[in-house]
Amino acid sequence: MSNFTLAIHGGAGTILKSMLTPDLELKYRQGLQDALDAGYKILEQDGTAMDAIVAAVSSLEDNELFNAGRGAVFTKKGVNEMDAAIMDGSNLAAGAVAGVRNIKNPVVLAREVMLHSGHVMLSGNGAKEFALNRGIAQAPDDYFFTKYRYDQWIEIRDSDFYQLDHKEDNLKGMAHEEKKFGTVGAVACDKYGHLAGATSTGGMTNKRYGRIGDSPVIGSGTYANDATCAISCTGHGEYFLRAVVAYDVSCLMEYKGLSLHEACEIVVKDKLVKIGGEGGLIAVDAKGNYDLCFNSEGMYRGVRTSQGINTVAIYKDH
Ligand code: ASP
Repeated sequence: MSNFTLAIHGGAGTILKSMLTPDLELKYRQGLQDALDAGYKILEQDGTAMDAIVAAVSSLEDNELFNAGRGAVFTKKGVNEMDAAIMDGSNLAAGAVAGVRNIKNPVVLAREVMLHSGHVMLSGNGAKEFALNRGIAQAPDDYFFTKYRYDQWIEIRDSDFYQLDHKEDNLKGMAHEEKKFGTVGAVACDKYGHLAGATSTGGMTNKRYGRIGDSPVIGSGTYANDATCAISCTGHGEYFLRAVVAYDVSCLMEYKGLSLHEACEIVVKDKLVKIGGEGGLIAVDAKGNYDLCFNSEGMYRGVRTSQGINTVAIYKDH
């Protein structure tokens, strides 16, 4: 029996204390804690890492503060298109959906793809048809409408900018590569020593029709392998895709014998930085060790372990 651990994130980026009112900060912290508790309860009751991450990510998807599920950002066409992926470290099974609309919990659909489609990734209308056939919960457009995200989009919809989530208020002079990210994810190690990871996102505000980020791409934004680690990423997806971030952490452990912490540090704080990729990731290994690693100003994050750790944090220091 191993130690068990659940780690979550709610996006990385330029998250400064000055940007959040005390009330909003409390709400974010509560949202993270609720997701941790939802997943941890399952691990505590002898459940699997897979079930725990689905519970944790679903909780974040249901919370409109986070850029996934209900709180998904708007595309250039003013709609919500979501990506999600899930991976089971015990058998390397994986499922993903890209560019899906009106799916209440994209992570649940990704798991369904993994278990029942015979494929790894479904996109757009094909994913939607599969969801309907499998009885996956749908939600109308107005379920995904949040004033905050809508206003974010209105400000830039006539430009060619696309923008990552967690932005400062003032967009004037904003560079194409604004340093704000959204997305949610969870990784877990259960008492049986099995790992699982999942990521879910609305992507980037004003993203092009059909743009797909790193989150649903196995090996880039999401990965799990009992022999090494489970990883869920958040950041500017184009860079995470090119750096094949999640699998790179796993490879450094598998082929170079690095620890989880060493591998995360090299990928996030050296390799990604060198190509200009900002963001972070959460990671666990099969001994229940964890790492919450980012090269941005902040990352919404939390971890709860059978060793008694139970903490959420937003900024660099806490
Ligand atoms: N990685 C996500 C994407 O590029 C965005 C994020 O993490 O905020 O779609």
